[in-house]
Amino acid sequence: MQAIERILSEVDRAADEIVQFTADLVRIPTVNPPGEAYEACARFLGEHLERRAFDVEYIVADGLAEHTARHPRVNVIGSRRGGPGPVVHLNGHIDVVPAGGGWTVDPFGGLVRDGKIFGRGVCDMKAGIAAAVFAAEAIERAGVTLPGTVEISGTVDEESGGFAGVAYLAECGRIAKGRTDFVIIPEPLNVDRICIGHRGVYWFEVTARGRIGHGSMPFLGVSAIDGMGRLLQAVREVLKPALASRRTAMPVVPPRARHATINVNGIDGGQPVGGIQTPCIADLCRAVFDRRFLIEEGFDATKKEIAELVARVAAEDAGATGVRFDVRDLMVVHPVKTPDDSPVIAAVDRAIRRVLERPAELVASPGTYDHKHVTRIGEIPHCIAYGPGELELAHQPDEYCRIDDLVNATKVIALSTLDLMGGGR
Ligand SMILES: [Zn+2]
Repeated sequence: MQAIERILSEVDRAADEIVQFTADLVRIPTVNPPGEAYEACARFLGEHLERRAFDVEYIVADGLAEHTARHPRVNVIGSRRGGPGPVVHLNGHIDVVPAGGGWTVDPFGGLVRDGKIFGRGVCDMKAGIAAAVFAAEAIERAGVTLPGTVEISGTVDEESGGFAGVAYLAECGRIAKGRTDFVIIPEPLNVDRICIGHRGVYWFEVTARGRIGHGSMPFLGVSAIDGMGRLLQAVREVLKPALASRRTAMPVVPPRARHATINVNGIDGGQPVGGIQTPCIADLCRAVFDRRFLIEEGFDATKKEIAELVARVAAEDAGATGVRFDVRDLMVVHPVKTPDDSPVIAAVDRAIRRVLERPAELVASPGTYDHKHVTRIGEIPHCIAYGPGELELAHQPDEYCRIDDLVNATKVIALSTLDLMGGGR
């Protein structure tokens, strides 16, 4: 049998082990926030890799505020060295979002039923971590010598920005140009799709300041809530139609996310609702906005457009009432895109054709993921996301991953890894 056939049949033979390993990961409730059980999960993954002859390192995010004694930020990396060929790094985040309500099964029970594994974080992205582990394992079991090095990492905090996780490893040079050639992140983008990047993110807070007065005589004060209302109206009537008219050339899914968008994350003004009330005109109102911008727009123009909109409402408002506005940046994530001719796209595409007998669909994420840190801090252009599980199930109640997707994705990752090292073609 050829190397590729042997690898594919080793993945099939390992199917029960892959399912078991995924369910074991799900049973470690690595909920973020606040970052529960990270160390237990990193050790579980690290000890498994050590038994499979990987060199294992644990890297804690020393110096970051979120790395505390109660909730340590522990990352793990395993390396298996073969020949002098390229280094292929498979990265998965170990954190999961809180279970939330609406579950009909135990979110941390690791239930296997009807060809699916259930649990919080199973598709986003513990099945992906299992796929990475068993992709490397299948190559080994098939008796194929690695022409290069395969690395598998489990990292923290992706759901909250990844600063103590992939960003930290990139900053300390552990996932970086010169050391790492290719990165595959097995996020759940559907088993036949390759994700080549994401839109940009601009989170900002707007503060409206008015003047307090007696609530029975609202004409004697300045309501910050009214001012914020006028800004929200301008966002709805002026900004949103402009954003909807812009469309990126990146293949963002779902299709409606190909446009620029804005969402109000939260609003807070006047007296706390539910508390004791006194008759006062609100002198303060704050809102946080989530603007997703396109690679074609860029951050500078995005920020300028917001500043101008706020300035215009403030100018109109000053005549009427005199509300003042301030804008404060909370977070900026620049868009990233894998180069069209990247070997990592070609290799994963070849593997998808081989395993699933259909061409890969190239997509871009509507959100953001650790790709940004790999590319912008690690300066590695050759990064994609590819993994088992359906994007739409991420963060939902009764989240699950289909076992046949998991097995197929494991095969695709195994063949891609070998291909990128120059083997198995
Ligand atoms: Zn994820």
